[in-house]
Amino acid sequence: MLNDVKQVLITEEQLLEKVKELGEKITNDYKDSDNFIVIGVLKGAVVFMSDLIRSIELPLKIDFMAVSSYGTSTESSGVVRILKDLDESVEGKDVLIVEDIVDSGLTLSYMHKILKSRKPASLKICTLLDKPNRRKVDLKIDYLGFEIPDDFVVGYGLDYAGKYRNLRDICVLKPEIYKG
Ligand code: 5GP
Ligand code: MG
Ligand code: MG
Repeated sequence: MLNDVKQVLITEEQLLEKVKELGEKITNDYKDSDNFIVIGVLKGAVVFMSDLIRSIELPLKIDFMAVSSYGTSTESSGVVRILKDLDESVEGKDVLIVEDIVDSGLTLSYMHKILKSRKPASLKICTLLDKPNRRKVDLKIDYLGFEIPDDFVVGYGLDYAGKYRNLRDICVLKPEIYKG
């Protein structure tokens, strides 16, 4: 698995330090909330979210949503389908969506629209990574880990063809891997 890595873009140490920083910000911003729920987007956000929630020093609930965007494995099409919906209603709750990466922004803008229509008390977005050069729709990111260049990355939850999620760093794979 490590043989497939061309370059480490963000190390485990940098990731954990950033997560701590985001956790402190979120803890401060939500300290008056008595109905705080963190919603992870499956599957990519799972690793980030499990570290993030443990750096938030507040009572909170978690839930997950799975969406599929039709397209190739390295590019999303903008047509989004809900594969797994939330277990609980978000009405009246302070909702924080946690995502691994924003690329075109189509997936999150769709999710934001859907969750907004369910009348949460507040709705914010936290993403570990952002590729701003690739944006196709306007999207407000409230909490951001890192801006990255336009390279396809894996690790720390992010996959290529379902694999590499358990790499500890954010990495770029060798070009021959993507050609399959
Ligand atoms: P968007 O809808 O913003 O174009 O795409 C967001 C989704 O595409 C992310 O949640 C992620 O699943 C996938 N994606 C976009 N860029 C990358 C990348 O560089 N690496 C990986 N593994 N997934 C990506
Ligand atoms: Mg994702
Ligand atoms: Mg993926």
